[in-house]
Amino acid sequence: MSRSTPTTVPQPSIHQYARTKIVATVGPACQDPDVLHKLVLAGTDVFRLNMAHGNQAQHDQAVQAVRQIDRRLDHPLGILVDLAGPKIRLGELPGGTFTCQQNSKIRFVRGDTFRPPNQLVTNYERLVDELDEGDRVVLADATVELVVESCQRDYAECRVVQAGQVGSRQGVNLPGVRLSVPPMDDEDRRAARWAAAREADFISLSFVRSPHDLIELKQLLQDLGSNAMVIAKIEKAEAVDKLESIVQVADAVMVARGDLGVEIDLATVPVVQKQIIQACNRWNKPVIVATQMLASMQSTPHPTRAEVTDVANAILDGSDACMLSGETAVGQYPVESVRMMNRIALATENQFRGRNLPQPADLTAEQVHPITLAVVSGAARIATQLDASLLVVASRSGATALTLSKKRPFTPIIGISQQRDALRKMNLYWGIAPIHTAPSHDLGALKRFVSAWGKENGSLQDGDRVVIVAGTGVTPDMHNAVEVHQV
Ligand code: PEP
Repeated sequence: MSRSTPTTVPQPSIHQYARTKIVATVGPACQDPDVLHKLVLAGTDVFRLNMAHGNQAQHDQAVQAVRQIDRRLDHPLGILVDLAGPKIRLGELPGGTFTCQQNSKIRFVRGDTFRPPNQLVTNYERLVDELDEGDRVVLADATVELVVESCQRDYAECRVVQAGQVGSRQGVNLPGVRLSVPPMDDEDRRAARWAAAREADFISLSFVRSPHDLIELKQLLQDLGSNAMVIAKIEKAEAVDKLESIVQVADAVMVARGDLGVEIDLATVPVVQKQIIQACNRWNKPVIVATQMLASMQSTPHPTRAEVTDVANAILDGSDACMLSGETAVGQYPVESVRMMNRIALATENQFRGRNLPQPADLTAEQVHPITLAVVSGAARIATQLDASLLVVASRSGATALTLSKKRPFTPIIGISQQRDALRKMNLYWGIAPIHTAPSHDLGALKRFVSAWGKENGSLQDGDRVVIVAGTGVTPDMHNAVEVHQV
């Protein structure tokens, strides 16, 4: 958040950026390094690279550009690599599209070529074996729906109950159907290796169905020497059923409302979103609300009232981050979308001046050391009571910073660490602005550093109060420490 900028641009202060983190998806609309730079200045904290789209050369360019901006602005930025997971897709269609006429019969067959007039293929060879009579097959982002009427050895015949056009490689959702497809295929493993080699900060897995899916990815990353945080995308009914055990194993969670809204009854998505956020806050895990947050800004410069309300409500529910997908990846207004999201978040947070934001759930005690929990709770209260200008958390791994963040203090927080990878991860922790500092075990040096930093960028003036929290192991002989400092 101390985005020092090229000399011609005035340096923004910490108050210009929302406490709620913004994840922006990279795509053709923003992959130009100048646009990425503008997205950072507008408030982006984490860039998502979606492995279901684009190619490796484009992803490599994006990683290079983001890391360059990070160095140029001396501002740690997060990179999230999103693995496609077991997403079923239609095969290639001649001419790219196919029209599903109301009540017509369509067959899913094995193989990889469409056979006229009505035989569709997918990338999941066993689909024909795993469909049953009565199953729903939803295509092309829920615009087309089929119902399975008969299953034979080599095909499953469906009737079109909601007509429409489908395109090559569009998604196939099977709400309620339990598939035996593995959680990751060779392509996901290759993408995970690529992400590990580029020191991605976060790796998300799509269509998680059980905690074992995450354990498998974590094992792979451990073998690759990556310490990326693993994000569980909740987008299947099976994941909602096993929510507690998935959240417990995940390092962070995404409410992936796009597929979730197809896989479960769309009308229940708002309540399920709240349940997921609450579970994450109980387990001390960062949570991202994703998809269609400002969807109309893909083609217009202004969001709808409902979209603005959706972003604000996600924050009030206790979400740590909000995500932009098509808005930044393929939309006409990527920078305006981030700016708008930042504005909505600031306006929502500013209602809580002088107190903490609502906390939707108490932490599950075993997740956090009781001393850490007591110290961060105390620090948040002290900062509010003293009307402090700044909370500072010196955190080696970032764990104390995450716990403080979950207390949702209104007071702006900077997270300082000498470890750049820990700082980059703080980009997903609500309210924590990551700042790099030289290693020191001396609280006096820390206070001098913070005073100089705050005065230089206008966040602090003489006489301001600063509450400093030392994370676990930062100062010798102390588990955690809290101190009030007057500038
Ligand atoms: C979603 O389904 O909401 C989502 C975030 O995943 P993707 O963008 O990969 O479809």
